[in-house]
Order: sequence, then structure tokens, then C-alpha cells
Amino acid sequence: MAERADFSARWIAKRAAKAALAGALTAAGLHHAVRLLRRRQAGGSRVLILSYHRVTPDFLAAARESLPSLLVSTGTLRRQLLLVARRNEVVSLATARRILAEPAGNGARGDVVAVTLDDGYAEVAEHALPILASLKIPATVFVPTGYVGTERRLPHDRLHAVLSELRRRGVPYERAGIAPPLQALLTACAETGPATTLDRLIARLPHDRLVALAEALEARLGASERDLPKGTRLMTWDDVRALDAAGIDVGGHTVGHAVLSNLPLREARRELAGCRDDLAEHLGKAPRHFAYPNGYYTPAVQREVGAAGFEAAVTIEDEENRRGQPPYGLKRKVLWENSTLGPVSWSGVVATCNVDGVFSALGLMRPVPGVRPDPLPEPPASVAPAPRPEAGSDPGPDPGPGPGATPERQAAS
Ligand SMILES: [Zn+2]
Repeated sequence: MAERADFSARWIAKRAAKAALAGALTAAGLHHAVRLLRRRQAGGSRVLILSYHRVTPDFLAAARESLPSLLVSTGTLRRQLLLVARRNEVVSLATARRILAEPAGNGARGDVVAVTLDDGYAEVAEHALPILASLKIPATVFVPTGYVGTERRLPHDRLHAVLSELRRRGVPYERAGIAPPLQALLTACAETGPATTLDRLIARLPHDRLVALAEALEARLGASERDLPKGTRLMTWDDVRALDAAGIDVGGHTVGHAVLSNLPLREARRELAGCRDDLAEHLGKAPRHFAYPNGYYTPAVQREVGAAGFEAAVTIEDEENRRGQPPYGLKRKVLWENSTLGPVSWSGVVATCNVDGVFSALGLMRPVPGVRPDPLPEPPASVAPAPRPEAGSDPGPDPGPGPGATPERQAAS
């Protein structure tokens, strides 16, 4: 993942080629043609939903010690939002949903954009809220409630930190020095770098195994989640209430940031009800929207999201939202610092081609579906449950790259 914040000659040259292509395409007006095509696909005005994670004053400093693909600098966030606001109406997620429910062919309205931020990082309250307020941009923030007001950190941040440290020490992931059952899981998912390895771990392991692996590797390295960079801290409940008071829509993102497609359905149900009840208790109202951690979902999970009372749910599938589509699989475009980066700094033409979907239309960015098959039916309560797979057993078939594993983004959540 180092290359994602890389200013080596090789990556500068790659980005220069991309920016040159974007410049030629926009000069030829191709972005206008793609917008028209996408509007036709959408069945009316285009409804683009953006997804962000961490917001930091200093991208390069933060990227040295965290997952770069989760980061956007305050300066770039402002520029990205100004760019979309210049050419689209920025609306709330609830309004975006209402537009999607309108009949196809209603082209009277212009294109709209909704802004969302996942994971409830304290940085969002500290750095994003003032930008959103100054630009009068509505937004939805998705919060994994079990971490709010604690010193605990999200599993992807913990695992990225220990995988990076192993690499820094020259320790192969296949010989990380942890107990054999967990080592077998890590070995089965080991890739060349921390971000790609993390992608596979998140895609394949149940939540409790992910956390156990993070704990084992931290113990092996003498590290603690509490030592992770300050920017990985989550909000307090006072922060969440302040967002709500400022008009930010606060949505659910499970309790433990658990990937629901990797859980038995009854545990997924608990995660959904738990985050709904936590938010209702602290904000005095039930959340309306939900974001699938890491973008993975199954048809049964979608039904459970509805049964838990959420009105809609968002994925991280970078595809066009269409009129009349079911509300529990809304598509989003993930943006981060490098989404709009030219050779060495901000590029307006790269930003335009990315946001308008030109790179996707040309096949330079590949949307990866977040949907996963439903698990086997659970046995009735009267039947003794089958023993859990032993840690260390084969984690199952590789479901392939997840929504995070696009050329633009890896190991995000
Ligand atoms: Zn997340």
C-alpha cells in the first residue's frame, strides 16, 4: 500500500500519464458524453453518493502510519466538495433516496450528490464538520457504536498497524510467530503487502477471528491498540451528539464494525439491533440509514437491515444508482486523497474524470460487487449447533477481491 502515498519517479510518471489522459478526454468533452450516458442509465438525473473515511490536516504524515486509502486531507476534501457542488446539487442521503424512488424519466431535476463518511473517526467531528458547515453541505456519518467513547480502535486499523510493523521488521507473514491456528489463517491470506493482506483477511475471516488475530499479533510485537496514531481514535458520544445537533444525519455501521456477510445471521441481527439501539439511546431517535462494513452484504443481510428498521443501506460499489432500485444496496463512490491527485498535486481534470465516471467507463476503474452468497440455513434451536470451525482450519474459498480491492482503493472499510 506504500505506493498509494508514493512520490517515487515511477508513481509520479503513472499519475502523469493518467492526468494527461484525463486532460485529453475532458478537452474533447468526453466527460459530458459520459455524464449523459450515465444519466440515461440512471433513468433520470444522476444520484451520486460519495463515501469518505478519515479527514486529516496532513495527508502525508498520516499516510506514513495508517492506511492511506482511508485518508483525505482537509484541503483536498474542500476542493473535492467544491468541485461536485459546482456541477451538482448537494443533497442529504434521505433526499437522494427520495429522488431514486421517483419514476424513471424525470429529467427535470439536475444531477445530485450526497456525502457520507464512514467509521465515526474523531477526525470527522474535528476536521470535516467545519468544512461541511462552511460549505453548507449536508452529510451522513456512519458510526460503529461499540467503539464510541472508548480507546478501542477498529480492527482494520489494528491489523494494518501490525502487518506494517511485521513487514518493517522483515518478518514474513507466514512466520509471524503466533499460535498455529491463527498463523494458519494469516498464512492463508498472506499477500505481498499489508493492505492487500488485510483485504483478504477482512473478506474471509469472521469478525472474532479478525480481532483475535489483531490481539495475537499485537502481543507478539509488544504493541497495543491504544498506541495507534491519534487519528485512528473514534468519536465520543458528545461528538456524535454535536454532529446530530449540527444537522448531520447519523447512521448505523454495526456495533463492532463486523463484516455482516461473514457472520451467522443471528449475530448479524444482533449487530444491527445493537447499533440501532445505541444510537436511539444517545440521540433520542432511531437511525434511518445503515452502511455495510467493508461494503459486503448478502440478500439475507439486506432483509435483516430492513427488519431492524433502517430505511436504506449503502454499499461501496462504485456503480450508477438507478431509479426504482431496492433501497438496501445504494451504490457509492469512495473518494480519498489520491482520487483527485495528478502527478504531484491536485488535478482538476483527474477529479472531473473520476467523479463523472469517465475512468470507470473506460475500464480504468473496476467496480467490484459487495454482494456475497447467503450462508447455509441455520439449524433449528432444538438441534445442537455444529461446532465452530477450529481457528486454523481453512477459512473457505476465496471470495475474490472485495469492494475495497479496486485500483483506486484497497483495504478500506
Ligand atoms: Zn467502516
